[in-house]
Amino acid sequence: MNIILLGPPGAGKGTQAKILQDRYGVAQIATGDMLRAEVKAGTELGRAAKAVMESGALVSDEIIIGMLRNRLSQPDCRNGFILDGFPRTVPQAQALDTMLAEQKFDLDAVILLKVDEAVLVERISGRFTCAHCGAGYHDKFHPTGVAGVCDKCGSHDFVRRPDDKAEVVKDRLVAYNAQTAPILPYYEQKGRLHVVDGMAAMDQVTAEIEGALRRAGVAAPATA
Ligand code: ADP
Ligand code: ADP
Ligand code: ZN
Repeated sequence: MNIILLGPPGAGKGTQAKILQDRYGVAQIATGDMLRAEVKAGTELGRAAKAVMESGALVSDEIIIGMLRNRLSQPDCRNGFILDGFPRTVPQAQALDTMLAEQKFDLDAVILLKVDEAVLVERISGRFTCAHCGAGYHDKFHPTGVAGVCDKCGSHDFVRRPDDKAEVVKDRLVAYNAQTAPILPYYEQKGRLHVVDGMAAMDQVTAEIEGALRRAGVAAPATA
């Protein structure tokens, strides 16, 4: 299964990608997570991306496309992948088509998670992540079972993204509407776009995505 999860910041792409990754046994490829790892490691790429990310703007297509090309050439992608946060511009979508053709990957579906803007802001402002295992949480919508302890790994360390501050969120939403939303017609014309109500509860959203994947001809996971 090779799919794209699309949607504005805070729509639930990362949450759903992690669930689908486990259920379908495919790789989550999250360009935001990859960039944050580069920033943390202090690489040249990370140094180039840091200020741009903190401003809420998009990192250049050239950097992102190069990073994704490397990732897609790794052997685990042969088992399937979920693209989370890529493509984000029309040139990225076009470059992806070329890469998929070169590497003989088929794209099964593009899933758009639709969420109202007011809800996005609320979701982003309460978001936090386990610093140790990367599990995602929300102050109100998905707190840890025991306060201050990660459900998955027991860690006590959590992080909040610097770009999840209210001032930056506004700019990220502007970037989504101006640069990312224009790729929706691109996939609609190809008959690949499936729209899912991202406002529902997390497990309901998962069920809706799985329904869309079935309709797109993807076999259900063995454990479903
Ligand atoms: P979100 O919560 O908005 O989905 P991400 O973790 O996917 O956030 O992305 C965080 C930031 O990383 C973006 O605001 C942008 O600066 C950069 N970024 C991630 N993916 C891309 C991409 N495909 N193209 C350009 N910039 C990207
Ligand atoms: P994205 O990757 O699209 O930016 P996330 O998956 O990080 O979004 O979700 C943003 C925040 O909203 C997280 O704190 C997450 O726990 C929470 N969240 C995700 N899906 C839902 C949902 N269906 N209902 C309520 N909260 C959600
Ligand atoms: Zn953890």
